Amino acid sequence: MQILNGKEASSAIKDSLKLEVAQLASRGKPVPHLVAILVGNNGASETYVASKVKACQEVGFKSTMIRLEESISSLKLLDIIRDLNTDPEVDGILVQLPLPKNISAEEVINTIDPHKDVDGFHPNNVGRMVLGQPTFVPATPYGIMLLLEYYKIETKGRHAVVVGRSNIVGRPMSILLSGPGTPGNCTVTICHSSTTNLAEICRSADIIVAALGQPGFIKADMVKQGAVIIDVGITRVSDPSRRSGYRLRGDVEYETVAPKCSFITPVPGGVGPMTIAALMKNTFKACAVKHYYEEEHVG
Ligand code: NAP
Repeated sequence: MQILNGKEASSAIKDSLKLEVAQLASRGKPVPHLVAILVGNNGASETYVASKVKACQEVGFKSTMIRLEESISSLKLLDIIRDLNTDPEVDGILVQLPLPKNISAEEVINTIDPHKDVDGFHPNNVGRMVLGQPTFVPATPYGIMLLLEYYKIETKGRHAVVVGRSNIVGRPMSILLSGPGTPGNCTVTICHSSTTNLAEICRSADIIVAALGQPGFIKADMVKQGAVIIDVGITRVSDPSRRSGYRLRGDVEYETVAPKCSFITPVPGGVGPMTIAALMKNTFKACAVKHYYEEEHVG
């Protein structure tokens, strides 16, 4: 069994971006600028946004974090996004999800300029991804594709089972794995809470992508010997022995599943760092498309 080390792969991606950014900066050219909007005080969201801002600093991007009160009106948030859309100094905009209940995530996503939608959630960009056209691919599935590529995992002709059908992870993951590229060319089954024979389907998988948000859900008896396991889940579970009072747990029961598989991502240190690296790549692309490519590739 080999661990798919997301920290190592993401460092390699960030190092290469850092080099490209340093070259731009040394020639006095614009460097990518990401704006992250955080609404309210959700602890996990604060951690994610802080990691994204830190990664920007590591690779030499400009970053701005806009913190907004939980009570902000939808109209005000949409106005802020519209201002960022027209700000020539801003290349990428991300609004950390989830949003407070009074704000429609759909409306927020639809308001972001698709050319600055580095999360790849805007319908234009989702449509382009489905059609296999150049676009911003949502960061988590994109990060997983980069991880498979980094470790040269053979995917062609293999049966991939994606558990979870969210718009940000499961659904785009199923599209990418079934696409004609490398990695890709998988035969994909996508499962959700109405899937009846989930364990049996998982047992037939060469690759399992677990993205349910149910800690320890995938157990050893659901996994074929030699399967590749990608654990997307991140759930905070109580752990009084830690100063924080919690630890992170994935959707896979790591202790029992790891000995059975060929490759597995740990939690933390697997998909999480790859998501950030993929976001950095998308932000670089947003800047490059605007300033350096003649042809328009996204949006
Ligand atoms: P989500 O929007 O809650 O979607 C969960 C999906 O799992 C849904 O499609 C749901 O089915 C399905 N599901 C839930 N329980 C199930 C069950 N018992 N059997 C089969 N399917 C079940 O979650 P998400 O945003 O995709 O996130 C999933 C997990 O990944 C979470 O732990 C999240 O924190 C984590 N995550 C990690 C990263 C990272 O960077 N590592 C990024 C994003 C998310 P229905 O559609 O039928 O309800």
